[in-house]
Amino acid sequence: MQTDMQALKQKVIETFQKLGGDIVVCGNAERFHDKRIFELMPEVKTVICAAFRILRGARRGIEEGTTYYQYTTMAVENMEEVVMPMPLLRACAVLEDAGFRALPQRRTPWIMNEKDKTNPEVDYAEIYRGKEAETMLDFEQCAVDAGLGERGLSGTVLTDEFGPCQRYVFLLTDAALPPDPVQTPHLCDRCGKCVTGCPGHAIAPDGTLDCWRCAVYYNGACGAKNPFLPANAFPDEPDRTAIIAGEAKISPERAREILDEIHFYPGMKHSYPASMCGRACDTECYIHLEEKGVLTRKFKTPFRIRPEWKLPSIWKD
Ligand code: SF4
Ligand code: SF4
Repeated sequence: MQTDMQALKQKVIETFQKLGGDIVVCGNAERFHDKRIFELMPEVKTVICAAFRILRGARRGIEEGTTYYQYTTMAVENMEEVVMPMPLLRACAVLEDAGFRALPQRRTPWIMNEKDKTNPEVDYAEIYRGKEAETMLDFEQCAVDAGLGERGLSGTVLTDEFGPCQRYVFLLTDAALPPDPVQTPHLCDRCGKCVTGCPGHAIAPDGTLDCWRCAVYYNGACGAKNPFLPANAFPDEPDRTAIIAGEAKISPERAREILDEIHFYPGMKHSYPASMCGRACDTECYIHLEEKGVLTRKFKTPFRIRPEWKLPSIWKD
């Protein structure tokens, strides 16, 4: 039986890999901290996690400030909507062909359990919040429990191969597949580059993320990092220069008001806004891990090949 399960696991792994999956790991359900897996599937025995790399080249535009669409379309939208669903469905089919149940789980950023939070990768106004209606897994915790990697200070999952640069999906099944080990944390050295890299100061020194502040600056409120921000941005805001400098006090209500005024970049033809902050938290982390030489995927040249840029201040009260 164990041999059958090993063979089935291998088939699932190969299915993901054939369709672009880079890392596939799984853990026995009991070890998962997020017990919502049992709400989703009371008979779940194994949770499989498949990670897909975010291409290093897809970050080039947000690193250099040359193009912003590419990261959004190639590292967020297409991965979530096109690249990852197909292998997830095919892997589920492999398990169903073997007579097991298989429940696909992908991120659905427009649905949140928490009533007071937001997701910077989508328009806050489009998010449906309601615990009664949906059970969304804690993706980061589940990835760690599946054995994918460790959580860095900022909460991002880090892997040996790609650092913070991957997205992932899950598959719940009642097949008892042989588990992979949970990773012992060894990558994050608490350097704090993810904290200092955020142009909107959305991550506290202890790593706590202010998701509303993050949404404001992800969407482009920081003048030093947004080449599309006009000189008269936020004309009616008394603290407009503090907002643009990334230093204003921002409550969730205030964040909504500011976000409603952010239309500085060509409107997306899809629902994912551009990352005008350059996902600097993850980018700085990647650069740090690469410089330390701890990532197993090596490149002939370093990612950062020119000094970090900042636009001069043109904003006045
Ligand atoms: S930037 Fe440093 S502190 Fe932040 S997650 Fe990466 S390694 Fe950890
Ligand atoms: S760098 Fe961007 S994504 Fe990261 S915390 Fe700051 S605003 Fe959010």
